[in-house]
Amino acid sequence: MSYELPNLKHWRFDIDVDNIAWAWFDTAGQRMNTLGREPVEELAEIVSTVEDAAQRGDVKGVVFISSKPNNFIAGADINEFDALRTEKDVEDVINPVIELFNRVERLKVPAVAAINGYCLGGGLEFAMACHYRVATREEGTRIGLPEVKLGIIPGLNGTVRMLQLAGPIAGMQAMLTGKMLRPGAARGMGVVDQLVPSHLELPWTARKAVLQKRKSKGGAWWKRLLTKSPARGYLANRMRKETEKKARPDHYPAPYKLIDLFERHGGDPQRMASAESRTFIPLMISDTSRNLRRVFRLQEMLKDQAPKSRFKPLRLHVIGAGTMGGDIAAWGVYSGMEVSLQDQTQDQVNTALGRAKKLFKKRMRSSRDVDVAMSRLISDVPGEHIKRADVVIEAIVENLDAKQKLFADLEKQLKPGAVLATNTSSLRIEDIAQSLQDPGRLIGLHFFNPVEKMPLVEVVQGEQSREDEVEKGAAFVNHIGKLPLIVKSCPGFLVNRVLAPYLLGSITRLQEGTPKEKLDAAAEKFGMPMGPIELADVVGLDVCMNVNETLGSSPAQDSDLGRLVAAGKLGKKTGQGFYTWEKGKPQKAGTDYDEAELERLGEEMLKPLIDECERVLDDGIVANADLVDAGVIFGTGFAPFRGGPLHYRRSKDKAGESTAQAA
Ligand code: NAD
Repeated sequence: MSYELPNLKHWRFDIDVDNIAWAWFDTAGQRMNTLGREPVEELAEIVSTVEDAAQRGDVKGVVFISSKPNNFIAGADINEFDALRTEKDVEDVINPVIELFNRVERLKVPAVAAINGYCLGGGLEFAMACHYRVATREEGTRIGLPEVKLGIIPGLNGTVRMLQLAGPIAGMQAMLTGKMLRPGAARGMGVVDQLVPSHLELPWTARKAVLQKRKSKGGAWWKRLLTKSPARGYLANRMRKETEKKARPDHYPAPYKLIDLFERHGGDPQRMASAESRTFIPLMISDTSRNLRRVFRLQEMLKDQAPKSRFKPLRLHVIGAGTMGGDIAAWGVYSGMEVSLQDQTQDQVNTALGRAKKLFKKRMRSSRDVDVAMSRLISDVPGEHIKRADVVIEAIVENLDAKQKLFADLEKQLKPGAVLATNTSSLRIEDIAQSLQDPGRLIGLHFFNPVEKMPLVEVVQGEQSREDEVEKGAAFVNHIGKLPLIVKSCPGFLVNRVLAPYLLGSITRLQEGTPKEKLDAAAEKFGMPMGPIELADVVGLDVCMNVNETLGSSPAQDSDLGRLVAAGKLGKKTGQGFYTWEKGKPQKAGTDYDEAELERLGEEMLKPLIDECERVLDDGIVANADLVDAGVIFGTGFAPFRGGPLHYRRSKDKAGESTAQAA
């Protein structure tokens, strides 16, 4: 009997001399393996073939493995999600897949998932349906169910299987945070059964697992105990409290629905499976999920702003070891580069080195990693490393003369092909470039504060900046794990330009008598990560004043903002701004406001920001409306579940039109 499947496009299938079936996944024409419609149909053929062969005693087991270098299955194909408009559409797609995974689970012979690289979402749901999971310990291996980040929950019975394997505490936490787990953590939770040091050992170990009929042991008895009724209620309440700290139920319902699902059905796998679908389906077609999927795509689009470049920077030199320069240098090291840091005095550099060490300690796993990182961060007061650097970023004081002088001197020392950038937030690139022999070389790389937390970097193209320098700048930003947004030079670039009228408008409302707590609550109700008055205090009132001056809209000296700045009350950093700050927290009065009123106020407050986005688009500061949305989401935290300021306005206009037509 022959079990060949010669027509597969995305999988390769064969049965070896030991009667082990091998299904190698390799989605055609894509970098990542994803479970789109075609690959799933082919998987169904494979499973039928294995069922037949097992029935006849012709196979001992099956191994599902990837042919791609660093991913097993990155998830379902989210590009196919948007075609699903109705609950019936979703049901028609997921039901056959759920049944397919169940058939894998029911196979009479061992089914082993051999995992290298990403095993996420639907990919992990599939792996959990197998009887045994082997994964590599390699750095790129990440395992998780990140569905909540897309506004949904696992929908292929992943919630049930995750609870069975990991128990409710670790399992629900993994699903509620959407974290991508390292292999060791996944093994510790029981989601993976065995680890191997490298992908080269995967096939061999998987083969042994089949021959020895290894089966996952599943969750320990005490984990199952926690899915019983009184424990479940207690745990669910605790989970709700934790989740409330991170996301509001009116903006991000998915995690709350997941907790409800667990609380109601966590003790009964069968009921939970069908209730999972009833929860999943409406979430899948909700606006929130649609918008969060859009944000995911916008993120990918930003990464693609840099052509898959030949430019592979290894060494970064940063001049100015203050707030920004010090943190840019530390981030560069953290992302794997060798970085030299220059300032006028050793003391300045030392302060920055101390801050860098704190960052590494917080983010790295071992003290050895911290030491290795520190050894890549070189103190360089005289600037001896400039000539070796692939990228040089200037982050000295915001003073045109000082910058021009520095650049005139710098240019002579650069190696050919090195990127030359300024982190200025308010000076014109064109003015700074005046002191250069080759002004086309200078670009802006505008990082945001705090560098560690802010994902976006504006790559500024001055009037003279050459295209290839801008592209290299964007490639560098990608290389250090940030998102590049290419913007034309204009006051405030994109992010500060759209933030300024919103902040200033809110400060004016405050001056006119609306309590600051109410303004902040309204913006948060809209979905901003922090209200504008608190944000102004965090950014620094002097910086706000400065940005507004750059944009030609500075508030009067006798305004509240002007008075506070004159009195040295600059916000969080001085302990007093609009708010009094204690232990890093603003002291707020009680905020018991009418929700509908907050909603209306939030809309009004955000209007100037969205209006400015329209003008930015008209002025061609970035290439298209999607890039405006991407920049504002990743640069300001603009309510991701709304899909971006311009998308939000267009959707509202459309909804208004349909209501008008219906009436
Ligand atoms: P900062 O005052 O904290 O640091 C500036 C550092 O530059 C100081 O340590 C100073 O000693 C050093 N310096 C001054 N002249 C120098 C020279 N000739 N050679 C070497 N070092 C010199 O300033 P910052 O807040 O880090 O800002 C730096 C740049 O980044 C500015 O252009 C600013 O507009 C921009 N920026 C700031 C922020 C922010 O939030 N602070 C955000 C984005 C961009």
